Amino acid sequence: MQNNEGPNICRRNFIILIGKAAITLALPIRLPPQNLFKMKNEQNYEVIIIGGSYAGLAAAMALGRAARRVLVIDGRQPCNRQTPYSHNFITQDGVPPAIIAAKAREQVAMYDTVSFLTDDAEQAVKVPNGFEIGTKSGSRFTAQKLIFATGIADQFPAIEGMAASWGISVLHCPYCHGYEVKGQATGVLGNGDSGFDMVRMISHWTPNLTLFTNGKSTLTDQQASLLSRHQIDIETRPIEALQQQFGKISAIAFKDGTQKPIEVLYAKVDFVQHTDLPVSLGCALNASGYIQVDDLQKTSVPGIYACGDNSSRMRTVANAVATGTTAGMMLNKEMIEERFTE
Ligand SMILES: Cc1cc2nc3c(=O)[nH]c(=O)nc-3n(C[C@H](O)[C@H](O)[C@H](O)COP(=O)(O)OP(=O)(O)OC[C@H]3O[C@@H](n4cnc5c(N)ncnc54)[C@H](O)[C@@H]3O)c2cc1C
Repeated sequence: MQNNEGPNICRRNFIILIGKAAITLALPIRLPPQNLFKMKNEQNYEVIIIGGSYAGLAAAMALGRAARRVLVIDGRQPCNRQTPYSHNFITQDGVPPAIIAAKAREQVAMYDTVSFLTDDAEQAVKVPNGFEIGTKSGSRFTAQKLIFATGIADQFPAIEGMAASWGISVLHCPYCHGYEVKGQATGVLGNGDSGFDMVRMISHWTPNLTLFTNGKSTLTDQQASLLSRHQIDIETRPIEALQQQFGKISAIAFKDGTQKPIEVLYAKVDFVQHTDLPVSLGCALNASGYIQVDDLQKTSVPGIYACGDNSSRMRTVANAVATGTTAGMMLNKEMIEERFTE
C-alpha cells in the first residue's frame, strides 16, 4: 500500500516540529565566553594541541571537560575547506564543513581552561618538563604534553584543474559524496591494484564508469577482463587537464587534443604530513606515511599523542572526532596516573 504522507513524517508531526523549532529559535542564544579565539596571557599549559580542526577540537573538548589548561594552536587550513557540504557524520549530514568546525569551536570555548591561538606551530623541542613550541608569529609556549591533530596535505598530480575541483567534483571518498552523484558519468583516476580496487568500489554507485589510467595500463589481464565483464571502460590516454568551471568538471582533456565528457572523478591522491614537527620530535611514521599510534592514540614518543587524518587512513570527520576524543581522554588519564607515582 502506498503511503502518501511521506516515509517518516506525517503532516501533524511536521507542524509540531516546526512549532518546536520556532520556540527554540526564540530562546536566548548561549553566548560564547571571553576566551573564544582569544589568548589568555599564559605561556605554560598542561597540554598544547597543534591543529584545531575536528580531531584537535574533539581532543580539546575531552581535556576541557577534565578542567585541563589547554592551548589549541590552529593554522585554519583543514583539508576539506573547499568542499561545499560534508556528509556521513551523524547529526551534521549535508552541513558545510566550516559550520561544523565553527559550532565545535563555540562548544569547546565554553570550557574556560581552553584557549585558542590562530597561528602555525613551527618549532617544537623537548625541554625538561615537557615541550616548548614556537609559532610563526614568534610566540613561545611550553606544555607537559602534546597532541598533534595536524591532518595531512594532499599532493595533486600535474593535471590542470584538479586542485580547483577537489572536493567539488573530484572526490576522495564515495561515502562522503557518492550518494549525491550516484548514476552520473563518473571516472576513476588510478592504475594497477589501487586503481582496480577503487573502480570496483565506485561501480556500486554508478554503472556509467571509466577507469582513467593516465598512461599505459598496469592492470593485470585478469583485472582488465573483470572490468570489461562489468562494462567498465579503461581509458589509457595521458591526461592534460580537467575542463572545469568553479570546480565542476565537464570533460577530461587528453594530451592528444581529444576530450571525454565526465561529471565526476574519483582520485586517490598522494599526501604528506602537514607538518614535520612530530618527526622532528622523534615520532615514528608507519610505512604508509601516517604517524604511528597505538589504539589509545599514543605515538612512539612518551607524552605525545596524535589523532585524526595524520595517523589514520580512515579519512572521515567521524574518525577524526573519535580519535581526537580518545587522545584527549587517554592523555588526561595518563596525567592522573603520573600524579599518583610522584
Ligand atoms: C575534499 C575533501 C572532502 C571531504 N569530505 C568529507 C565528508 O563529506 N565527510 C567526512 O566525514 N569527511 C570528509 N573528508 C575527510 C575529512 O575532512 C577529514 O577526515 C577531517 O578533516 C580530518 O580532520 P583533522 O582534524 O584530522 O584534520 P584537518 O581537518 O585537515 O585539520 C588539520 C588542522 O591542523 C592545522 N595544522 C596543521 N599543521 C599545523 C601547524 N604546524 N600549526 C598549527 N596548525 C596546524 C591545519 O591548519 C588544520 O586546521 C573530506 C576530505 C577532503 C580532502
